[in-house]
Amino acid sequence: MRSPIVYCGPMWGGKTEALISRLVRARLMDIETLAFNPVRNDRYGTTDIVAHSGATFPARAVATGQDLLDHVAAHRPQVVGIDEFFMIDAALDAVVELAAQDIKVVVATLDMDSEGKPWDSVGELLAMAEEVVKCPAVCATCKKDGFYTFRKGAAPAERVLVGTADFYEPRCFACWRCGQDAKRADAGAESLFGG
Ligand SMILES: [Zn+2]
Repeated sequence: MRSPIVYCGPMWGGKTEALISRLVRARLMDIETLAFNPVRNDRYGTTDIVAHSGATFPARAVATGQDLLDHVAAHRPQVVGIDEFFMIDAALDAVVELAAQDIKVVVATLDMDSEGKPWDSVGELLAMAEEVVKCPAVCATCKKDGFYTFRKGAAPAERVLVGTADFYEPRCFACWRCGQDAKRADAGAESLFGG
């Protein structure tokens, strides 16, 4: 198995589903696996990795890459799965250390935020990955492949927000850019009448 393998893309692209399927396959082969989920990813109220489809895999919640390495040192797995990599502080350092220990790593992560900017350490992760799989969702507007996550106008402005369908939707580049332009125009109109 190549390592790291990275499944990336927007929300609702099936990244976590792909990660779980790799982990289940390893487990069926009697390969020791250990899976991790960021503490902040609490949308389902569990430490398990949970895909939008409902598939689950037992996982430990960690805040930092060091927490992750501590669990690995205690349990000595052969394969490590990491969901929502971008939400774990210093996760890249942990992946580098796991590679040095010859432990296989499978990662699922958002690649860009809703402004279309890569998450800080994800670019480096993709550079060192031996296999990268882009997982497009379906554009909520035109139904083509959607590689972007669009934040709806009413959503709070924090960069990291554990998402729900109330705040985000997947879009293709053309529909995402169109929505970004519309939000900018709305902001301009507000400042014109509000200021
Ligand atoms: Zn579209």
